[in-house]
Order: sequence, then structure tokens, then C-alpha cells
Amino acid sequence: VRAFTCPHCHALVAYENSLCLTCGSALGYLRSAGDFVVIDQRAGYRPCANLSKASCNWVAEVDSFCWSCALTRTRPADSDPLMPAFALAETAKRRLLFQLESLRLPVITRTDDPAHGLVFDMLSSSTGPVTTGHASGVITLDLAEGDDAHREGVRQSLGEPYRTVLGHLRHEIGHWYWDVLVLPNHLPTFRLLFGDERADYAQALSGHYGAGESAGWQVGHVSDYAAAHPWEDWAETFAHYLHIRDTLQTAAAYGMKIDGPNLPISSAAPLSAEPEDETSGFGEIIRTWLPMTYALNGVNRSMGKEDLYPFVLTPRVLSKLRFVHAVISEATISRNSLPPLTSH
Ligand SMILES: [Zn+2]
Ligand SMILES: [Zn+2]
Ligand SMILES: [Zn+2]
Repeated sequence: VRAFTCPHCHALVAYENSLCLTCGSALGYLRSAGDFVVIDQRAGYRPCANLSKASCNWVAEVDSFCWSCALTRTRPADSDPLMPAFALAETAKRRLLFQLESLRLPVITRTDDPAHGLVFDMLSSSTGPVTTGHASGVITLDLAEGDDAHREGVRQSLGEPYRTVLGHLRHEIGHWYWDVLVLPNHLPTFRLLFGDERADYAQALSGHYGAGESAGWQVGHVSDYAAAHPWEDWAETFAHYLHIRDTLQTAAAYGMKIDGPNLPISSAAPLSAEPEDETSGFGEIIRTWLPMTYALNGVNRSMGKEDLYPFVLTPRVLSKLRFVHAVISEATISRNSLPPLTSH
């Protein structure tokens, strides 16, 4: 996200905050302005009704709720043990929505399109089984994924290097964007890069979960799960592209610039063979991103933490990311007015 400041005292304000820690002003994120405002009933700025239940720091713009909370159709009862996870999931969702709008991607709600528009079911598996997934615009999240012990257990049992609630939301909305952007306009190129999505989906997934790690997935996929089916490959690659763009936006907002050490970027070498990368901006994204990941992994290790970025971008994965970039660039409402990638 961008770096925000308090409209009252101009101190730095984290995107998740509903209070300025410097001057004590109650703050809210006003989506229609893309910025924080001081909560002031006289000026018409009321906090979202989910301020306490969803840790929501957006201003109410749809009746008593904000636009983000209004996109959630189902949530657990107040007494549900997973209510803290609901707040965590909604916080991740607000970051997701900020990014979609920042990239100028279309967000079609259920009001605009009652059959395929976006809506979220945030469900608790404390009372019955819940499957995280996407179907015709409905994104379902098992809120147990917001419970650290549960999520870490699943991550270890599946041998995944990375598992977060934000990652789930980016993955599931990737399926929706496949329906909205790839299916109508880009199917032949998609099949060339990702394979034929008409392969039996249920069979592919049960095969994936039954067989353990797919042999050799690293060559052409950003994750093991991406190798399960072309649809999953797209969703994993799309989510990965959002990871890269958000992290670069944040780094730029703080003026982070990696100047050294001067390492050869071997996996990005094929970029030089793609002249369109320079006109589309993809080349700059990857050239900025790879040195950043080396630095951030080094920083994390200095703190005794695991790598921030436990991924490798092979030439085939880069081709898929380039395709995601092209699809998004074409879909953006105003493609020539994208914000600059870096602030320098
Ligand atoms: Zn302040
Ligand atoms: Zn809200
Ligand atoms: Zn999926």
C-alpha cells in the first residue's frame, strides 16, 4: 500500500490504523478519496459499523457499513470462537481491495451483476466443514485460516513455504478474474502457457492431494499446488503477481531502493529476449523485484526469521507472470495513467 499520514498532525499512519498514535485523532480510510480523514460526524464521516467486529478502519459509505464490509454477505455469529479470525480476514480483504483499485482492476459487485458479481462468505468451520474457494463470484474463506496454529499445521502438512490469509484471498479472486478477463479475451494464449483447463478439475485436485508433491513442479510453476490444474496455476500466478506489486508499492512508498551488491540476475535473463517487456513495464518490475527479494530475505535472516520470499522465478514462471501483467494492463480502466512503479 501507499504510506499514509494523519490529516491532522501529518504523522505516519499505518494502513490498518483507526487512530493516530501521535495526536490521538480518530481516523478512517475514505475509499472514495483514497485517503485518511479525521472521523467527524459534522463533516459526515462516520466509522464503519464493523469498527470493533472487523477491526474496520474504513469510513461508512454504504449505509452504516463501508464498501469493503458491504461486500461480505455472511459472517459468523458474534459468539463464534473464530470472530478474531474474522477481523483478521477482513483486514486482509481491505488490503486486497485497495490493491485492486490501485491497479485499476474492475471490481464488479453483486449489485452490478447479481449472478457473477463479487461477494464474500466469511465462514467459521467451528460449527461445520467449510471449503475455501471461488464459484461464480462467491469467495468463501474458512476463517480457521486466520488461526495461527491451524494455518501453520496445514502449511506444514502440505509442505508449503508460504500460507497466509491475504494469499488465500489473492488466490481466490484470481479465479474470479480468470472468468472475467481471461475466458472472454485470452483463452488461446492462456492454454499455450498454462495448459488446457478442460482437464477434469475434480480428478486433478484429488490426484494432487493424493500423490504428494508433483515431481518437477519447480521448473514451470510458482508453487507445487499450481501444478494441480491450469486454473490453480493461473490463480497461484495471479496471487503471486499481486504479492509482487503490493510489496513494490510499499517499498516505493518508504523510499526503499536496492543499490547493491551488484549480483547477476540470472533467472531474469530471458527478459532481454522480450522487447515488449520494456514498453509494458514488466521488465522494470522484475528488475526492481529480484534484488529487493535478495535484500529482504537477508534482512529477515538477520532477525532469525525464515525468508520473506521463499520462491524462485524460473523463465517459464516469468512467462506466466508476464501474461498476468499483460491481462491486467489491458483490463485497467485507464491504462496510461497507472501510478509510477517507484518513487525515484
Ligand atoms: Zn495525528
Ligand atoms: Zn467496514
Ligand atoms: Zn484455487
